[in-house]
Amino acid sequence: MLQLINLTKTYPTPQGPLHVLDGIDLHLAPGESLALMGESGSGKSTLLHLAAGLDTPDRGDVLLEGQSIAALSEPRRAELRRQRLGLVFQQFHLVPSLSVADNLTLQARLAGREDVDWAQHLLARLGLAGLNDRYPEQLSGGQQQRLAIGRALAARPRLLLADEPTGNLDEAAADQVLDLLRELIEESGCALLLVTHSVRVAGPLDRCLHLQRGRLAEAGP
Ligand code: ADP
Ligand code: MG
Repeated sequence: MLQLINLTKTYPTPQGPLHVLDGIDLHLAPGESLALMGESGSGKSTLLHLAAGLDTPDRGDVLLEGQSIAALSEPRRAELRRQRLGLVFQQFHLVPSLSVADNLTLQARLAGREDVDWAQHLLARLGLAGLNDRYPEQLSGGQQQRLAIGRALAARPRLLLADEPTGNLDEAAADQVLDLLRELIEESGCALLLVTHSVRVAGPLDRCLHLQRGRLAEAGP
């Protein structure tokens, strides 16, 4: 599903180059779920951005279902993201001027993959049925993040990349969001790469990796 090959990333800083990723190799099988852990500043978001083709590595490559994204122009990369990837971030990034229903189907519409039954199913599963005509500002934080997850899954991606998706939620809302995320991932057969600080969240996933000093290590079950 996803292969990261010798991925290296350095940021220039006034103090000199900051080596964030130092030859990362990672292989994620279809349907596999993986937790990515590591201290703040260890490069987790950088890794996820590279995997999504939102940033380019200094060296190495990212293969999405065998397709090298380094070889693609940005418009083709954006199209690949719309078609194959779901992205969820700590900030919800909903469109304030669009209703719940329109936010949910936004990516699917852009990808030409709208599926009304699946969208209705997602809204119900996410506890958002009946809120179709509301706007994001009329939702709680937990509801907004559930909507962002629904939007990411509405186009039936093969891989969901989630960067601390519950970082802005209180513990109760976070638990609910993560349980739903796991269930929907299993239901749809989508692979998952989830950045999280929580051992409790990482526990039920297939694998857990730890990012430290630019390298990945298996963190055990
Ligand atoms: P994490 O998500 O694990 O907290 P990040 O990937 O956001 O880590 O950042 C890794 C390191 O790279 C941090 O020290 C951060 O300050 C630095 N960094 C991130 N983006 C940039 C950038 N655009 N320019 C310079 N330094 C950056
Ligand atoms: Mg981060």
